[in-house]
Amino acid sequence: MTQSSRPDQSVSVNLPGLPAGAADPCVHCGFCLPTCASYRVLASEMDSPRGRIHALRAIEAGELELDASVASHFDTCLGCFACVSACPSGVRYDQLIEHTRPKLIDAGQRSPWDVAFRRLLLQVLPYPSRLRTLLQPLRIYAGTPVQALARRAGLTRLFGPQIEAMERLLPPLAADSYRDHLPQLNPATGERRGRVALLLGCVQRCFDPAVSKATVAVLQANGFEVVLPPDQGCCGAVSHHQGELELTRQLASDLVRSFNAIEGDLDAVLVAASGCGHTMKAYGELLMGDASFRAPVLDVHEFLAERGLSEHFLRRLQPLEITVAFHDACHMIHGQRIKAQPRDLLHNIPALQLREATEAGVCCGSAGIYNLVQPQEAAELGRIKADDLSSTGADLVASANIGCTLQLRQHLGTRASVHHPMELLAASAGLHPLPGLPQGAGIAEVARKGEDRQLLQRPT
Ligand code: SF4
Ligand code: SF4
Repeated sequence: MTQSSRPDQSVSVNLPGLPAGAADPCVHCGFCLPTCASYRVLASEMDSPRGRIHALRAIEAGELELDASVASHFDTCLGCFACVSACPSGVRYDQLIEHTRPKLIDAGQRSPWDVAFRRLLLQVLPYPSRLRTLLQPLRIYAGTPVQALARRAGLTRLFGPQIEAMERLLPPLAADSYRDHLPQLNPATGERRGRVALLLGCVQRCFDPAVSKATVAVLQANGFEVVLPPDQGCCGAVSHHQGELELTRQLASDLVRSFNAIEGDLDAVLVAASGCGHTMKAYGELLMGDASFRAPVLDVHEFLAERGLSEHFLRRLQPLEITVAFHDACHMIHGQRIKAQPRDLLHNIPALQLREATEAGVCCGSAGIYNLVQPQEAAELGRIKADDLSSTGADLVASANIGCTLQLRQHLGTRASVHHPMELLAASAGLHPLPGLPQGAGIAEVARKGEDRQLLQRPT
């Protein structure tokens, strides 16, 4: 079967029972269109929130069939929920697309290659041990001159756009990518303020293990004991995003079980990848009350901003003389309504200057596995986002979602490095090195001991 094989256009399914009232408030005003990532690159009404809502109403009314052609316009949706934030009428497009996605999986809606490729991704990405096994042979390829040569010679194009997109996202693979190094129990330093559990994330722990290390170090230095359940798996975000509800529920139940097996009290279950946090906050609905964490799920920025950084930690912070553009991941800004907290935390780093991109709420094109299954649209969005962030003149981009981080690293190239806000806090506190800082930046060699933070921030 080739990648160009077309699905059977004659097959269609019904789409009964949209979430009650979710589409009703749509008045077709079009306010959502400028924020819609798929509309931006495809410029077609059918690939906009308004067009999809119109199609859903027509399907429900029996005037349109959800055949492969109509389904393709739902597949172009990134599930970024920018339209939900933009809509003045309160249309719950998030509920509409989440209800629609499982229907798109039905046989005949996608080409056989597309079905097989998505199935492969869902058989690998949520399982760190499988992903690591698959990555073993790539150790001598990723980040080496061989990879650069293969790209220059156009060899990666021979495997088709989706495999090429996968290869382009592949980061250099360090020894840490292949096994979890952090201990199960990480004690608080300084005055103890509480106890939390942390999700390592399945893609994050393989492709950017420095994030968990930095997050644990920052939490410890702020007085929190951090527990990492050793058997924790995937939160189900990747499959949830694809409408694969059975797999998502299974992964979610397993994760709840592993976190609930922790002995002793917990103040929170923390997440440092916003895509994962968004899904874990939806477990109540997904698991229909069958299982739940015994502590609230919080994004790590949300938690630290609410508790406040400790005096002990604030005293450790040394100047980082860099300009930083914060990238708002869609599942953070639209999905969890978290915007100020990561910025507020970064403002505590002396000398660090934050810059704002002009289109902060528009998706970067990562969107779970969107950049693998819709590579052309995702690449265009990646280029637009990279140019927008780059135009701020920032030395570095801060991203709190692993999917966005990989997408931005690919499209920003040498224009700016991309790091998690926890890595910046950890670097400023001298807890964790930060590779790839622009020349002349880094922890300034100014006297810090015995001086307070305000003194260092005071203009001279
Ligand atoms: S979804 Fe909201 S913003 Fe978009 S067309 Fe409908 S009412 Fe207007
Ligand atoms: S979720 Fe994002 S891509 Fe999908 S319709 Fe809304 S704004 Fe457009």
